[in-house]
Amino acid sequence: MSFSKSLKQSDSQVYQAIQDELDRQEFKLEMIASENYVSPAVMEAVGSVMTNKYAEGYPHKRYYGGCEYVDVVEELAQQRAQKLFGAEAVNVQPHSGSQANMAVYLAALNAGDTILGMSLSHGGHLTHGAKVNFSGFLFNAVTYGVNAESEVLDFDEIRDLAQKHRPKMIVVGASAYPRKIDFEKFRQIADEVEAVIMADIAHPAGLVATGLHPDPIPHCEYVTTTTHKTLRGPRGGMIMMRQDLAKKVNSRIFPGIQGGPLMHVIAAKAVAFQEALQDDYKIYCQQIIKNAQTLGDQLMEAGFRLVSGGTDNHLVLMDLSEKDYTGKDAEEALERAGITVNKNTVPREKRSPFITSGIRIGTPALTTRGFKEAEMQQVAKWMLSVLDDINNTELQENIKKEVHDLCKSFPLYQT
Ligand SMILES: *Cc1c(COP(=O)(O)O)cnc(C)c1O
Repeated sequence: MSFSKSLKQSDSQVYQAIQDELDRQEFKLEMIASENYVSPAVMEAVGSVMTNKYAEGYPHKRYYGGCEYVDVVEELAQQRAQKLFGAEAVNVQPHSGSQANMAVYLAALNAGDTILGMSLSHGGHLTHGAKVNFSGFLFNAVTYGVNAESEVLDFDEIRDLAQKHRPKMIVVGASAYPRKIDFEKFRQIADEVEAVIMADIAHPAGLVATGLHPDPIPHCEYVTTTTHKTLRGPRGGMIMMRQDLAKKVNSRIFPGIQGGPLMHVIAAKAVAFQEALQDDYKIYCQQIIKNAQTLGDQLMEAGFRLVSGGTDNHLVLMDLSEKDYTGKDAEEALERAGITVNKNTVPREKRSPFITSGIRIGTPALTTRGFKEAEMQQVAKWMLSVLDDINNTELQENIKKEVHDLCKSFPLYQT
């Protein structure tokens, strides 16, 4: 082992896999709604020497020496997050969105308490009470869904469920919901049953920060998020809360469920938050929505059904249940054409989660590389051609080449 060796010299297998991944990101259309491309500045921070540092505890209250510089970045991350979201208190240490949620649950609840969250099959997240997740093991999870006709949140149903089950916490947020979420309505219901609210804005965080999506902060005790989706930072999580709740939540992150924080990631969070505070980040977020709506309109014009009939955020959910192919078939066919999406359950799903009747398509990553309405129309055309003749592998091969060419004119990391 030598410190002077590059990765290429010291480990050709990992080096090659990273090169291949770079190529995949550069030359395919990344349309997974939960993914994005970080800036080179964010990447530089993630790949920095801060990965070497142990810093258990919080700024100026650490269990290790030598923390003066990691304290600087953690405080910058905190201050910038507070400014970006208008939060009273923040914790920037959660390793992931799941960890952020776990810490809030452990601060606000006891084992066996009832939580009311959105069901996984209607667009909720594993950590909102799914049976296979710790949130389902530890708590009595009751779920709400979307209305059978409108496919949007049904507040009468949510109120009925809340009154029947008297949850100690209502969990608000989703991973596959194409509409805005009205946090004020959830607050009214929570007050009626004396529940606290955890809003999980992992997906629309960037839209929330720029005022393009309703703001949960004034209405919810706890707000959690990931930092790597629309927010366009490094993989990680964050918790925002009222000042009086911060001490307990902080103690649940450390020493409750985590050891040393990932200081290189926290440094990168600080960089990403600073980027999100710039004027052009709001323009970026506006374009994400325009791109999703352009794509959705094209798909609907061609006769496809979108869950809830459209979108007002960064994603569309195509319902393929009337087609003679599945979500899995569509995902695989599009992948062969260089278009990466994920199969997804739809409301009233009849197939297994491994097959599904839908696909979820997001625009944050393509918008980062500079795509606007014109490019989205081209992307929609390609998707429609593939889906129209789903077993035509020759067509898929040809589209893959065209995709490659378009990507080449919108370079990402390889300039
Ligand atoms: C992505 C997501 C998470 C979890 O994020 P991880 O970082 O993958 O743990 C939590 N909640 C929602 C709603 C999400 O979409």
